[in-house]
Amino acid sequence: MPRADLIIVGAGAAGLSAAGALKQRGIDAVILEQESQLGCSWQRRYDRLHLHTVRAHSGLAHYPMPRSSLRYPSRDEYAAYLNDYARHFGLNVVTDFRVRNVRMASIAPVTWEIVGACDSWQSRVVVLATGQYGVPRMPALPGQECYDGEFTHSVNYRNAAPYAGKRVLVVGAGNSGAEIATDLAEHGAAFVAISIRTAPPIVPRDPFGSPVQRTSFLLSLLPPRLADRIARLTARLTLGDLSRYGMPAADWRPYSSRRVPVIDVGFVDALKRGRVRIRPALARLTATGAVYADGHSEPFDAIIAATGFSSGLDALLEDAAVLDEAAEPIAPSGEPTTSPGMFFVGYTHSLRGHLFEANRASRRLAANVASYLERAGGKIS
Ligand SMILES: Cc1cc2nc3c(=O)[nH]c(=O)nc-3n(C[C@H](O)[C@H](O)[C@H](O)COP(=O)(O)OP(=O)(O)OC[C@H]3O[C@@H](n4cnc5c(N)ncnc54)[C@H](O)[C@@H]3O)c2cc1C
Repeated sequence: MPRADLIIVGAGAAGLSAAGALKQRGIDAVILEQESQLGCSWQRRYDRLHLHTVRAHSGLAHYPMPRSSLRYPSRDEYAAYLNDYARHFGLNVVTDFRVRNVRMASIAPVTWEIVGACDSWQSRVVVLATGQYGVPRMPALPGQECYDGEFTHSVNYRNAAPYAGKRVLVVGAGNSGAEIATDLAEHGAAFVAISIRTAPPIVPRDPFGSPVQRTSFLLSLLPPRLADRIARLTARLTLGDLSRYGMPAADWRPYSSRRVPVIDVGFVDALKRGRVRIRPALARLTATGAVYADGHSEPFDAIIAATGFSSGLDALLEDAAVLDEAAEPIAPSGEPTTSPGMFFVGYTHSLRGHLFEANRASRRLAANVASYLERAGGKIS
C-alpha cells in the first residue's frame, strides 16, 4: 500500500491552495484527484462564466493570479491559473484516482486509509477538499416521468445553442439559475421563465463602480442586520424596484443568513426588458410542461434545474460524526476536527467569496497540520 505523511483528496482550488500553503512550510502532500487534468471543475462550467469575485481576491495561497488576467477572470483563465499554481509549487498530483472511502486504519499511531477503485493509500493526515458542489441536487417532482421534453441539471448546461427557438424553464434563482436564464434570453431561446420558490436578494456586481466583494469585506464587520439594511438600500438605489417586474421580495437576507445573494451580471436587465419572466414554485410536470404552485400551467420544451449541489462527503467518510445534518463539515475549514489527523478545506459559506476563504483556510490548515505532525512525531512515509 503506498504511504504518505499527508494526503489531500481533491485538486480543485481549495486542495491546491492547501498543498501550496503546506509546501511553503516545507510539508509535502500527495493530492489524489479523480479527473485526468487540473481545472476540470471550471472547464466544465458554462461558457460565459466569469468569476463574480475580483482577481485580487480570488487567488490561492502564496501565489496570486497574474495581473494579465481580467478583473473578473474567465472560466478558462481560472483553470489555466490552477495548472500554473500546481507547476509553480511542484505539487504532487495523482490524477485519475477517485477516492471511494476514507477510514481510520489504526488509532495508535493514527493512520488513515484512503481507498480508491484498485489501490489504497495510507497517511498520517488526510485533508478533504472535494468541494461543496460535488453532487447535483435534482428536484423530485410529481409527473416527472411523464414529461416529454428535456429535463436536466444546470451542471450540464454549456451555452444556449441547443435551446435556440425553444421555450425553456429554469428552476431555481441562485447565481447559476439567474445567469443561465440570462444567457438563454440573450442567445436565441424563444421564451425563458425562471421558477422561484425561495426568492433571493439580488445585488449589483459593481455598486457605484466598486466590486460588491470589496463592499462585503466592509459590511461583514458590521452587525448583520445593519449590513443587510445597507445592502438592501444599495441594491434598491442601483437596480430599482424589481417587484414591478414580478420579482418577489427576498425571503432571506445575506448577512444575517450568511448566504451568497444573486450577483447581477445581466439578469436584472433581461428581467426589465421582459426577456426573462418570473414564475412561482414548480408543483409538478405534465407531458408538455409545468404546473406551478398557484395552479397555473405552461408548456416548455426544456426544463433546467438550477437547484444546487450537495458535498457528497457523507458517502465518502466512514466517520459521519464530523459532518452536520446537511453533510457539511462541523469544524471550520482548516481547523482540527474531532477525528485526529482529519481536516477539511473549501467548505466555508461566506459573502467574501469562496476562493478568498479557501486561500485563508489553507493557510490556517498548514499551521494546524504542522503542529499536529510535530505533536504526533515520527514518519510513516
Ligand atoms: C458556476 C460557479 C461559479 C462560481 N464562481 C465563483 C466566483 O466567482 N468566486 C468564488 O470565490 N467562488 C466561486 N464559486 C464557488 C467556488 O469557488 C468554486 O466552486 C470552486 O471550484 C470551489 O473549489 P473547491 O476546490 O472547493 O471545489 P472544486 O472546484 O469542486 O474541486 C474539488 C476537486 O475534488 C475532486 N474530487 C471530488 N471528489 C473526489 C473524489 N472522491 N476523489 C478524488 N477527487 C475528487 C474534483 O474532481 C475536483 O477537482 C463558483 C461556483 C460555481 C458552481
